Amino acid sequence: MKSVNSELVIEIKNLSKSFKNLIAVDNLNINVFQGDVFGFLGPNGAGKSTTIRMLLTLIKPNKGSIKIFGKDLFKERLSILRNIGAIVEKPDFYGYLPAIKNLEIVSKISGHDISKKRIMEVLELVGLAERYKSKVKTFSHGMKQRLGIAQALLHNPDLIILDEPTTGLDPMGMKEIRDLIIHLSRDLKKTIFLSSHILYEVEQVANRMIIIYKGTARVEGNVKDLLNATNLAVTFEVNDSEKAKGILNETRWKEKLKNVSGQKLEFNIENHEIASLNKYLVEYGVDVYSIIPTRSLEEYFLKITQETN
Ligand code: ADP
Repeated sequence: MKSVNSELVIEIKNLSKSFKNLIAVDNLNINVFQGDVFGFLGPNGAGKSTTIRMLLTLIKPNKGSIKIFGKDLFKERLSILRNIGAIVEKPDFYGYLPAIKNLEIVSKISGHDISKKRIMEVLELVGLAERYKSKVKTFSHGMKQRLGIAQALLHNPDLIILDEPTTGLDPMGMKEIRDLIIHLSRDLKKTIFLSSHILYEVEQVANRMIIIYKGTARVEGNVKDLLNATNLAVTFEVNDSEKAKGILNETRWKEKLKNVSGQKLEFNIENHEIASLNKYLVEYGVDVYSIIPTRSLEEYFLKITQETN
């Protein structure tokens, strides 16, 4: 768990962006702390790229604020961006030139002072050192993707933003990127903001995550807690929710009651507690019409993903 003193690297507040009538990002709040591998999850069209493009000042928000490294992104844009490495779209390289030459060209254009030694270091880091002389056109998709990450790392940024870095990769290629992310985080202490539409991919590497859908945050928190299947959201439909609430007020169930809406009470409880809670309510004169365990995170994610496809 993050302590309250952990340094905030990204602080997004009430961020919104519309394209004509379409609300792509809707009042989004995100906190990313130093050392996080932060999973930014959502099905296609959820608003991930739009958010990332705002983080990189490629587009302007309609509303809201973004602080990175504690500074206002729009006031101190250049000094902030200098300390960020990102791959946003599929990186573009000169296929007929060797990997190292491509990175030399990028280094020159970047305006950062990047030595040949540093270029070899990042090639080593992404597992391409042995192929440094190979033409990029001979690289697999996964190798090109890792070269893209190498490019983002050249100037040794503290924050790395990766937008769907494994799109189109085979399982082996995906694993190589995952291992690289873990290495960057664990050994080099980088903060990583990773967007993905694949839950499995995020849960492998991220410590915290947010799921967005239709531009809005739906689920967020510590990855391990969110995936802890023993903690279910269970909805009890009853004849009189106010009465039920009153009955539970002085009991251990009170703090497990998360939401009341109409005749429905939603609890965060474990599987084995369902029967005793039901018994308690019935004993005290509440009629229980239905008990529905809310979908697990995987099922929820599958559901919103299917809705958008
Ligand atoms: P994701 O990255 O999660 O797949 P996007 O941020 O790319 O989602 O898109 C969010 C929504 O905004 C989608 O409905 C998309 O069609 C729309 N959108 C994104 N960019 C533009 C744009 N430049 N003009 C109009 N609509 C856009």
